[in-house]
Formats: sequence, C-alpha cells, structure tokens
Amino acid sequence: MKVGKRKNKLKIIKIATPILMITCIVTFIICMIQTPKIELIDPELTIPVATSYEEPGYQAYANNQDISDRVKITGQVNTEKIGTYIINYEATYFLFHTKKIRIIEVIDEIPPIIELMGEKEVFVCPNNTYEELGYQAIDNYDKDLTSKVKIKEKKNELHYEVEDSSKNKTVVTRIIHYEDKESPKIELKGSSNITLYLGDKYKEPGYEVTDNCDKNLTSKVTVSGNVNSDKIGTYKITYQVTDSSNNQSTLTRTVVVTNIPQNENGIIYLTFDDGPSSTITGSILDILKQEGVSATFFVINHDDNLNNLIKREYEEGHTVALHSYSHNYANIYQSTSNYFEDLEKIKEKVRSITGETSNIIRFPGGSSNTISKRYNIGIMSELTKEVVNRGYHYFDWNISSGDAGEVHSSEEVYQNVITGLSRHKKNVVLMHDFEKNYYTLNALRDIIKYGKENGYTFAKITPNTSMVTHRVAN
Ligand code: ZN
Repeated sequence: MKVGKRKNKLKIIKIATPILMITCIVTFIICMIQTPKIELIDPELTIPVATSYEEPGYQAYANNQDISDRVKITGQVNTEKIGTYIINYEATYFLFHTKKIRIIEVIDEIPPIIELMGEKEVFVCPNNTYEELGYQAIDNYDKDLTSKVKIKEKKNELHYEVEDSSKNKTVVTRIIHYEDKESPKIELKGSSNITLYLGDKYKEPGYEVTDNCDKNLTSKVTVSGNVNSDKIGTYKITYQVTDSSNNQSTLTRTVVVTNIPQNENGIIYLTFDDGPSSTITGSILDILKQEGVSATFFVINHDDNLNNLIKREYEEGHTVALHSYSHNYANIYQSTSNYFEDLEKIKEKVRSITGETSNIIRFPGGSSNTISKRYNIGIMSELTKEVVNRGYHYFDWNISSGDAGEVHSSEEVYQNVITGLSRHKKNVVLMHDFEKNYYTLNALRDIIKYGKENGYTFAKITPNTSMVTHRVAN
C-alpha cells in the first residue's frame, strides 16, 4: 500500500512540472510586452475659421518599436463652422489597446467691417438735422450684419457699432459738423463778357444765386459798377452775396464799350429766320454759347411756351430782330398798312419778352421777293422806303445756306455757306430756325469752326451795322 502511494505522488510531479514551467514562461513573455503609447503634437489646437486643418503629427510606440503606421484615426474637423471637434487616435499591440484624443477649436477672431456711405466727416447746415447717408456691416463669418448695427450719438459724433456671433466688436465714427462752409454760387444770365458799341444801352441781363443752406439769396445780391456806353472803355460789374453763415461770393462781368466797326469786311453775321422752334433753337443756342459766337434771330409769332427761348437768345447776348408775326405773304404784302400792322404785333411780342424794342427787321422772302407781285404791284419799293423812314434797319443776306428746302444734307448747308464767304466783304448768312431743321443745326458747329480757322470774326447785327440789302424786284 505504502509503495503504491509514493508511486502516485511521483507521477503527479512528473506531469505538473512542465505545465508549471510553461505557465511561468508564458507569464514572463506576457509581462515583457508593453502597452502601446501614443504621443500627439499639439493635443489641443485652436484654428481660425475658414482656414484649413492639417494633421499636426503623432507617434506611437510599443516595446521600443515605432507602430505609428498602425494608428487608426477617426473624427473630422469642419473648418468652415465654428465649434469644438475631436479626433480619435487608436493603436492596438497584441492584446493591448490605447486611445488618445485631440481637441480642435475652430474660432472666429475677425471683427465685422462697417462701411460708411458718404463722407466720414459731414457738414450739415446749422439748424438742420443730419440725414443718415447709409452704412453696411459685413462679417467674414456672419455675412451681412447691417441690420444689427446700432448708432449712438455722442456730441458731434455718430458711433456705428456692431458685434458678430463670436463677440468681435467693431466701432466706426462719423463726425458731423453743424456748420455751413460752402459759399453761395452766383450764376450770371447772359454772357460774362459783353461787347457794346458806343451808344448801345447796357441792360443788366440778371443773375441767380443758389446756396446749399440759404434760400432766396438772389434778392440779396449787391451789384456795383457802372457802364458808360458813351465812353470807350472796359467796365466791371461786380456781384456780391453773403449767406447767413457769412460765406461770401463775388463774381464779375466785363462790359467792353468799343467803337462802331468801320470796316466790317471778314465779319460773319449768322442770321436765323422763322424761329423759335422747340426742336432746334435750344441746341443752336448751346452751340453758339460753347463757341462764344453772337448771332441774330429774325423771329416770328410762336407759342408762348417758347418765350423762354426768345429770352435765352436775348440774355445770351444775341440780337432778337423782327421778321413777321404771321409770315403770311398774301396778308402782309396786300398793303402798307397790313405790313406794319403785322410788324407791330411781332415787335410788341418781342418787347414783352425781352423788354427791349427792336428796330432791326427782315422782310419775309427778302426785299427782292417777287411773290408780293401777286398781291400788290410795287409794294416792296414802297415798303423798303417806308421802313427806313420809320427808323427801321432792314437786312437781306448775301449768302444763302439753302436750308429752306433746297438742300438734302447738312454737308450741303456747310458747303453753301463756306463757298459764299469772303474776307473782302461783310458776310450775312441766311439760315432758318424752324422746327426740325437739323441740316442747319448739324452744320452750324463746322461752319463756325471754318470761320474761326480762316480768319473770320462773328458778330450780331446791331443798329450800327450797315445794312445789307438786295435790289428790289417789285
Ligand atoms: Zn421767313
């Protein structure tokens, strides 16, 4: 019995020893394997919104071995949206598992931009209120913040304030000066350079004042200076006005009184018959003004809403002369009395607009017309004598533009006029100012240009101009 028990014990030891040894070896090996480690560069990161996110880098180790390539990364960063983002880094080594996180804050630190419309320093008339000129607030992240702008008034400053959703604040300032630093503007009617011949009467063409703050300053203008048109010389008329903030303006008009020209050769007298017209008179006046040229308008009866054109002709220094009220040959050339009745009517109409009585006339059809024979034989011989007896100066022409129906282009008008010009005579050019006479309108500037470039001067007909007349044919 005793021997059998001992034998059994030995058997157990024989089996147990290798198991124990293997267990010990396995435990030792397991104990030697280390848990992996992950190291992150910049584990906490802040980046501006709308920039790009780039992995800052990491390393993983286990048992002195680089196992970075075994790291699994999950998570995303939306750099277009403000917020906190987490990126997970995981590494497994045998049975061991390690995890690390990176925290990324996407933030906005850029303040909104406020743009002011108008000046940043504004002058407002005293006693007036400032009217907002407008503004706009734009943010890199929140976009349009205009409606969130708050305006605070402090003394003479306006503070425009706005904050974006990240509490970035912007303040811009507009300075308001309640003072008037602008001088009134005086505008002269008529030319600022007037030429009068000895004996011509000077009549103030008028002026108008505009001001940023004050109204009705025109009546406060002081006009000083005199023109003695009986004495050759250069005269200055001075216009002065002061607004309620003491801003002053002064303007001068020069009036030259000269001798009646003895030699009128080389002078071009541009004359326009049958106006005014709503379609071309204004443009004719614009061209004459730009070119600094005076002309003569032989006017007829017209709608009262065109009176302002007659007024402009007069105020801009041209001669407003008389043509006819009715321009009706059958009536006016019937008798002397018919003629003068018609002439008186247009004379009165012009006088009521310009305030001046004209004694410069042109017969409808010219003094050489033969159409009057149909109504009264010899009437032109009578009339040409009678108008002079009554103190009128009548003017025919020696150059015809052909614009009363003969031409078909502005080029023809131009050619007709320039081929008729001569520096050895006075040139009285017949043109027409009736509705839609665009041929003449479009040729006018070139005619003036030609005249200026070829040694001619331009003048208007005055009572001192010697008459240019045709041979009477009836
Ligand atoms: Zn006519």
